[in-house]
Amino acid sequence: MLNVKNVNVYYGGIHALKGVDIVVNKGEIVSIIGSNGAGKSTLLNTISGIIKPKEGEITYKDEKLNLSPHKIVAKGICQVPEGRLVFANLTVKDNLLLGAYLRKDKKEIEEDLQKVFDIFPRLLEREKQFAGTLSGGEQQMLAIGRALMGRPEIVLLDEPSLGLAPLLVDTIFNIILDLKRMGNTILLVEQNAFKALQISDRAYVLEQGKITLEGDAKEIASNPKVQEAYLGKK
Ligand code: ATP
Repeated sequence: MLNVKNVNVYYGGIHALKGVDIVVNKGEIVSIIGSNGAGKSTLLNTISGIIKPKEGEITYKDEKLNLSPHKIVAKGICQVPEGRLVFANLTVKDNLLLGAYLRKDKKEIEEDLQKVFDIFPRLLEREKQFAGTLSGGEQQMLAIGRALMGRPEIVLLDEPSLGLAPLLVDTIFNIILDLKRMGNTILLVEQNAFKALQISDRAYVLEQGKITLEGDAKEIASNPKVQEAYLGKK
């Protein structure tokens, strides 16, 4: 469904992505694991059109994805950025409705709003509250809910567990699994390799801008090098 081929990205003299190849198939959860500065956010930002690669090609359903970010969203690829970035001075409901700004199907938008509230009852309780007053975990739920309001085909999630208390981390990962069960396709970027691998079908390890390992998530989780570097085992 989504194909990233030989993508090279530079920030001035820094070669941030070095010939990256990844594939995401429909209905999968694919995770990219890697430490701080490995290039994970750069990869997501390149897929969503925020960064233009110097070399390489990204295709979606066999079509080149060399488009501006809003056109990529319109194609059904929606990113939930790192740090959540909700609109603090808007209510929870208005934040969610903004996620549907490209749509005109009012009745379906209302139905989707109810679906998001079913997935995140906490957001329904706080529907009229300003987003800035929510806890970190609630803001993460809101950021994911807002992405879902655009009826995306692929959701790109950048570090959804960052800065969350352990219990909330579990909640968020369970919700990501629910999204898959509902038919969503998910590309997940995480430093929390242990949790990410538990819920993923396949995974890639990104190190200093290069994919150094790829495969079935269970195989990656049992790889001794991965265990030592990312799972805290020796
Ligand atoms: P993190 O988990 O900290 O977000 P990451 O794996 O997402 O890390 P990136 O943010 O993609 O990594 O960064 C990859 C490399 O590119 C790093 O060396 C980083 O310092 C560099 N980099 C990222 N953004 C920029 C920028 N705007 N200008 C210059 N260098 C950048």
